[in-house]
Order: sequence, then C-alpha cells, then structure tokens
Amino acid sequence: MLRRELPHNATAGRLIRLAAGRIAPASDGTPLQAAQVWPKGAQPLGYWHDEPVALAIEEQGGQDWPDGRHWLAQLPESWFPLIATALQVAAWLRDHRYCGRCGAPAAKLDVEFAMHCERCGHRNYPRISPCIITLVTHGNAMLLARSPRFPPGRYSTLAGFIEPGESAEDAVRREIYEEVGVTVGRVRYFRSQAWPFPHALMLGFFAEAASRHIRIDGVEIADAAWFLPGRLPQLPPLYSISRALIETHLADVASGIR
Ligand SMILES: [Zn+2]
Repeated sequence: MLRRELPHNATAGRLIRLAAGRIAPASDGTPLQAAQVWPKGAQPLGYWHDEPVALAIEEQGGQDWPDGRHWLAQLPESWFPLIATALQVAAWLRDHRYCGRCGAPAAKLDVEFAMHCERCGHRNYPRISPCIITLVTHGNAMLLARSPRFPPGRYSTLAGFIEPGESAEDAVRREIYEEVGVTVGRVRYFRSQAWPFPHALMLGFFAEAASRHIRIDGVEIADAAWFLPGRLPQLPPLYSISRALIETHLADVASGIR
C-alpha cells in the first residue's frame, strides 16, 4: 500500500520510470523498479510497503512501456493509488513548469507536492478536477450512453466536470439533462475514485429518472439507451467507478433491493 508521506530526505529506493503517460515494466513485471540510487530530479512520491518510492520522468520511453490504462487493468486494485499518483504528479510537473501568474520558471519544493515561483511567490499544487459520474436508473433499467471516443459497442455511465460555483448534486442534474434530456428525482452519493486521465476525481452517484424519454445531445453523446440486466452492451473496464456503479445496480436488482 501507498503511505502518503514524502520521503524528501531519501536519495535511493524504488523507482517508477515514466515517459508521456507510459510506465516502464521492471524485471519482475510490475511498474516498480528495484531499489537503487534515484536519478537527479526524481520526484519522491511516498512509501510503498515502507520503502521510499520516487518518480523519474524521462524524455523518451521504450516501445514496450504500457500506458496507464493497461497497468490499471493488469495490476491488483491495491496498486491503483500508486499508479494514479505517479500519472497525476507527472502530468502536473509537465504542465506547471512556469508560473501561471507572472510567467517566470517555477521550482519544485521538496517537502510537499508544490511548484513555487521565486519571482512573485505564487504556488501551484497538483491539479485535481472534480467530475460527477452517474448511473441513471428507472426501476431495473439503466441509462447508458456512448461517447464518440469510445471503442465500438461500449456504453457507460454519464460523466462531466463540475463547473465553478456548482455543487456536485447540481452538476449531476445539469449533466444528465444536457446530455440525454432526462430529469431526475432522487440523487444518491455512491463513492469516489481518482481518475488519472489526466487529473480527475470522479464523484459517483445514482440518480432516479422521472421518465424513460431520452433526447441525445449528439455532441458529447453519440448514442444513449435504456438497458435491462439481461441484455447489456459492452461495459467499461472493471477497475473504473463507472463499472462499479453498474455492478452495484445489477447486484441490487439480483437481490431484489430494486
Ligand atoms: Zn510568478
């Protein structure tokens, strides 16, 4: 497991090698390289089973380096926090090399995840973007939709970024109405999941539709439909909160809760 305390005085330990969202496989098949002296500029991440671990961001990865989604699909769930942290911290370091306020180069601090501007004092922390993700239900039926970006045949739950000044519950109602034209009654919080593509925090909800009439927006959503437990399309990957929402609903239906 990952202990979230920065080993800022350490100079050696386990290492994750990352380039453009791809992570190098170690000789044991995991993404954690054997203990070694860290290269200059490595970013400490925390402790993995009490061993310090750092991130080395490299210019060019190998052809055989799997991407983040591949690692999350292959590894046990206990690895999710480490992989998600490495991917998000790497994206943040890449995107915040200059101060967003005055444009001067920013410097990495040792004691926390922070990029500091010497010129104006502005400080940047890893960006985390809250999103809502919702399974809309009507009795046993689930409303699933496909984005134009999805692999062929796959349907998933509805999702969207929370806008400035908006509550998560308001975002649930707005996104559902914008994307599929459905008004929902009761909205119930499920749980959350860090989603490192590139830096989302998914807040999961169930929402009960007032009716089954759908109006597709045609931009964010290519198709949407109601699905019954016995006739499901291709679903999102097992490690996603989207899939957890769907599986929870299916289990509730099977046990007669719905
Ligand atoms: Zn500045």
